[in-house]
Amino acid sequence: MIAIKAGKLIDTDNGAVLNNQLIVIRDGKIESISKRLELPAGASVIDLSNMTVLPGLIDCHTHLADGVHDTDPTNQLKKSASQVALESVPNARATLESGFTTVRDVGVYRALNDVALRDAIARGYIVGPRMYVAGAYITITGGAGAMTGFAPDVQLPLDLHYGEANSPWEVRKKVRQLAHDGADHIKVLASGAVLTHGSNPKSQEFTLEELQAAVDEATHFGLRVAAHAHSAQGIKNAILAGVASVEHATMIDDEDIALAKQHGTYLDMDIYDEECIREEGKKGNMPADFLRHDFDLGQLHRENFRKAVRAGVKMAFGTDAGVCNYGTSGKQFAFMVKYGMTPMQAIQAATSSAADLLGHSDLLGSIKPGKYADIVAVTGDPLEDVSVLENVQFVMKEGKVYKMPGPPAH
Ligand SMILES: [Zn+2]
Repeated sequence: MIAIKAGKLIDTDNGAVLNNQLIVIRDGKIESISKRLELPAGASVIDLSNMTVLPGLIDCHTHLADGVHDTDPTNQLKKSASQVALESVPNARATLESGFTTVRDVGVYRALNDVALRDAIARGYIVGPRMYVAGAYITITGGAGAMTGFAPDVQLPLDLHYGEANSPWEVRKKVRQLAHDGADHIKVLASGAVLTHGSNPKSQEFTLEELQAAVDEATHFGLRVAAHAHSAQGIKNAILAGVASVEHATMIDDEDIALAKQHGTYLDMDIYDEECIREEGKKGNMPADFLRHDFDLGQLHRENFRKAVRAGVKMAFGTDAGVCNYGTSGKQFAFMVKYGMTPMQAIQAATSSAADLLGHSDLLGSIKPGKYADIVAVTGDPLEDVSVLENVQFVMKEGKVYKMPGPPAH
């Protein structure tokens, strides 16, 4: 049994702050939380009374299983699948140690590497966040989730075009396959992409009919669908098809915002990674076509985020981790506040709302009896300065401590 003394505790379910709480943890779950001061007999005590304690953070848009940070997907062909998988081990550790105890991973270049990474973490072979994974991208031929940039007569191995589908029934077949393979959700691509060769983010890819097939088939397996969409039409199709979340939502228009509100669709807007795209561009590391795709979208994305927040659309925290270095996702909080959220809203996007999007509010997203003991802590008050979440100093996942605050600096 572990008892945590929390100086301040953020109650993400109620948007409130509690002082001097005692959290009792048993068998990886939270047993109780109260203001009582006497410690339960036999408990080992963790004293965080000078810190702000929060539920473990959740990033709803990551790509942890793509190996070392790399700006050009075609480099995947220079490595074996096992090389990429082993390169992903530090990605998982950096993510957990930065305070993200859970991720919703939304696609992988080498199909099923994410399933393997999830299972290796869950079995304790390696250290990382709890992962919910997609297994592969379901995408049109040559689409946003396809491995492109090669001569037309190059035949790719199966795991590099696993989720290619070009009709409602082909989409259903891929959903069935991925459900069988152990995917936790389905990722579809409803528009072109920024970081894919030969793609146009302003286009539409899957039709409404194909997206409806994905959502309907996924529902048969109890799976939710996340749809990548930059263009307004792609976003509209995804919402109308009934996806759980629209990823990026870069060019969302007023009609889409109203539709998202009406359908209760989450938006997962990765408004920080523009910094990294530009930075890599300056260093000459970003392929020129990717920079052209991105040229007029970065600022528009952030202004549209502000509009969506103001309209009251459901928002989850997602960074597209892998675009920026792993372990730096906390930097997005300050951008979410800069573009219209309160610090509490930004924190809820990465905790209670993220848990709701995952469909696991019973286990994740707040510090409540019966939920996983996923607990992080920071020095300072994130409600005054949300950027303190860039330096998470204490990390516990399912009752196990992965990071402790260091001795005070002199
Ligand atoms: Zn992504």
